[in-house]
Amino acid sequence: MKTLGLLGGMSWESTAVYYRLINREIRRRLGGSHSARCVVYSLDFAEVEALQRAGEWGSAARMLAEGARRLVAAGAELLLICSNTMHRIFDELEREVPARWLHIADATARRIRDSGLRQVGLLGTRFTMEESFYRERLEGRHGLRVLTPEAPDRRRVDEVIFRELVLGRIRRESRAEFVRIIEQLAERGAEGVILGCTEIGLLVKPRHTRVPLFDTTEIHAMAAVEAALAAE
Ligand code: GLU
Repeated sequence: MKTLGLLGGMSWESTAVYYRLINREIRRRLGGSHSARCVVYSLDFAEVEALQRAGEWGSAARMLAEGARRLVAAGAELLLICSNTMHRIFDELEREVPARWLHIADATARRIRDSGLRQVGLLGTRFTMEESFYRERLEGRHGLRVLTPEAPDRRRVDEVIFRELVLGRIRRESRAEFVRIIEQLAERGAEGVILGCTEIGLLVKPRHTRVPLFDTTEIHAMAAVEAALAAE
């Protein structure tokens, strides 16, 4: 089993989910008291959020690269950024810290293609929904078609992520809004919807809607287990 390195704290609410899912899946696959070989480097999210807000992606990349180097120094062989948004600087990190990185959108696109779907909705922070780094990866590399909510709903999704979910606040009213937005995407032709923020799965579960959901936290965690157990 290879050692996983989780670049987390973005927010810790979802890093805790990654940790649980990865360990549970290793135990399910290997049985007995097996658990994951894993190192977690958890950042202070207030610092990350401030850099995102200011558009200081270069400084953010330096901060995450430092974390990644520490993971590698501690023995991590496979690295994961536990946030969709911070994949905005994936290429810089991959260049700065040569290691094996598992991209969250690649794992998600593979799961979607395996389900036979082509056109999907995308929910996430405004960065993930509106900038090109995430959509282009899904569309250009993986041949998916991606729909996002209309502007007022994009603002609302972003607001709920930063004012509620990263703070561990789960509100029924927000869940109802997310379900409405998910179902509107389906009405516009989305065959499924990507929960493209690692905290959305804390709010919306498959049982809340009939629209197929692709929870990036769960998908990324399962891809990590797969890679950790794969033969060389
Ligand atoms: N965890 C989130 C994501 O997956 C949002 C927090 C952040 O902005 O990094 O995008």
